[in-house]
Amino acid sequence: DSSEDEDYDFLYKIVLIGDSGVGKTNLLSRYCRNEFDLQSKTTIGVEFATKTLQIDGKIIKAQIWDTAGQERYRAITSAYYRGAVGAILVFDITKYSTFENCERWLNELREHSSEGIKVMLVGNKVDLKHLRAVALEKSTNFSEEHGISFLETSALDSTNVEKAYADLLNDIYRNTL
Ligand code: GDP
Repeated sequence: DSSEDEDYDFLYKIVLIGDSGVGKTNLLSRYCRNEFDLQSKTTIGVEFATKTLQIDGKIIKAQIWDTAGQERYRAITSAYYRGAVGAILVFDITKYSTFENCERWLNELREHSSEGIKVMLVGNKVDLKHLRAVALEKSTNFSEEHGISFLETSALDSTNVEKAYADLLNDIYRNTL
């Protein structure tokens, strides 16, 4: 029913950023459809998914954008960032280089987005604890230095996925009141 699509108080655009392979597509599908794909390939053509939730009795429609593989070629267009009020910056806790690149992603985000954008740093794949390459202390320090939120998640077993989005959306909601 298309009329239901219009039935919300606030529409928030959220962008997923971070290196290729860190789990962005699965963090989107886990949250919006409760689906996970172990062999997920680049989803061509799918730009965003939506999820509706309530905060303070208000209906919030979150429109969550996935890079659709653009990050592989370091060719994220400014259209991707346009209008975003929140970002989820994802790294893989088992791959240190994906954490190192977060600084660069944050810079790119700051260049392309508006001042007040809220950022949630996410260390994904926490189900693979035995392969951890990024100490919790490292990412905590990074998030504090940059004044952004931080959580470790698993799109595979759902740890903190709901919370990462909910915390970010609450942050955005409080900021826009
Ligand atoms: P993207 O390139 O950032 O969109 O990453 P994908 O969502 O395509 O995930 C890349 C690979 O990591 C896929 O094989 C996923 O199944 C896997 N993956 C994603 N999230 C997790 C997770 O939380 N735990 C584990 N063990 N694997 C994950």
